[in-house]
Formats: sequence, structure tokens, C-alpha cells
Amino acid sequence: MRKLDTKTIIVASHNAGKIREIRDLIGPLGFEARSAADLAFAEPDETGTTFEENARIKALASARTAGIPALSDDSGLVVDALGGAPGVYTANWAEREDGSRDFQMAMEKVEQALSETGATDEARRTARFVSVLCLAWPDGHTELFRGEVEGHLVWPPRGDRGFGYDPVFKPVGHATTFGEMSAEEKHGWKPGDAQALSHRARAFKRFVETCLV
Ligand code: IMP
Repeated sequence: MRKLDTKTIIVASHNAGKIREIRDLIGPLGFEARSAADLAFAEPDETGTTFEENARIKALASARTAGIPALSDDSGLVVDALGGAPGVYTANWAEREDGSRDFQMAMEKVEQALSETGATDEARRTARFVSVLCLAWPDGHTELFRGEVEGHLVWPPRGDRGFGYDPVFKPVGHATTFGEMSAEEKHGWKPGDAQALSHRARAFKRFVETCLV
């Protein structure tokens, strides 16, 4: 396992919601995080078929362009009754013909697919969010960290505090959706804490424990 020995890092993402969450998580550790979006780096094609492959593609592209380490996140919603869909294609389900993204439409598509399978009771509406973080160095070395959080899909969507599919995801053990939680509640973690809640914070905790200490 390679340790991270710089205090400046690229957040290899163009997704504003993810960049905000990674900045929230990394900020208290004393890092300066610049995003691929701010630096106008080209977005690589996500040609992988796993979260790990796509996370690696994004982190390596930014690390090689910037010449310093980069941290990417590839994530998605895995719905059991849909055989794991949308999975690695979670962002694609939100894509409109003009290339813009519409998550209200994406949540409706998931709900439509679920109702076609007859999954109306909570026991058949299980899902998990998955996040795979990849830390890449310009020389091509990579480290991967996976985090998952189990939950249930609710309908209609609730809350407008998060991003993406947050309003329909209620994590196990909680009465509120991610869309109704503050960022602090959704992460459920700060440096030193033993537990984390969100998939991204769980993966981030592994990154901290592996590469920073
Ligand atoms: P990608 O990793 O860029 O392929 O996109 C993953 C997609 O999954 C995002 O566009 C989000 O819509 C969704 N997603 C990932 N993490 C979260 C989350 O924490 N909340 C809500 N949606 C998420």
C-alpha cells in the first residue's frame, strides 16, 4: 500500500455533488483539493463495466494530466429487484437527449421499473449505494477503496438537500432519506470516528486508514 505524501490533490470529478462531498470529507484533513472540473480537464469516457474500472480510468486521467495524485469516485445505485440496475449506468439513466442530466426523470424511471416488477412492499424495495474511490499517482500506481450502504427505495422522493438519487434512498436504521439529511448526517463520519454512514464516507474512511496513517 502506497501512502499519500502530498497535501494537494485533484478531485477527479465533474459532478458538483460528488466534488462537494469529497471536499467536505477531505477538508478537515488539511488537504487542498482542486477539481478536474475547476481545472477544465477533459472528461474521460467511462468504458469500464465495473465501478473499480471506471474509478481507475477517471483517477489516472486526472493524475497524468495534473502530474500530482488524484482521487476519483465511481458510484451508483444497485437495486436488487432490478437485477442490480442501474449500477454502473446510474448516471446514464439521468441523461436527456441534449446531454443534460435530469435526476427527477431518473428516479421516475427506477420507480417505473420497480412497479413493473410488482415490488411495492418495503421488503422487495431493497437497494444499496456503492462508491469506489481510486487514488492514482502520475506514474500509474493506483489504490482502490469500496464503500456500500444498504437501504430501501421510497416513493415519492423526499427532501432536497443532497444530489442525484438521494431523495429516494432511505438507509437502513434511519427514518429519513439521504435527501432529508444534512451533509454531516449523510456522511455520518469525521476524522477519527469509528463508523461512517454514506457509501462515499465508508470508502473515504478506508482511504484515510490505508493511505494517510
Ligand atoms: P458516476 O460515478 O459519475 O458514473 O455517476 C454515479 C451516479 O450515481 C451519479 O450521477 C449520481 O446520480 C448517483 N450517485 C452516486 N452517489 C450518490 C449519492 O451519494 N447520492 C445520490 N446519488 C448518487
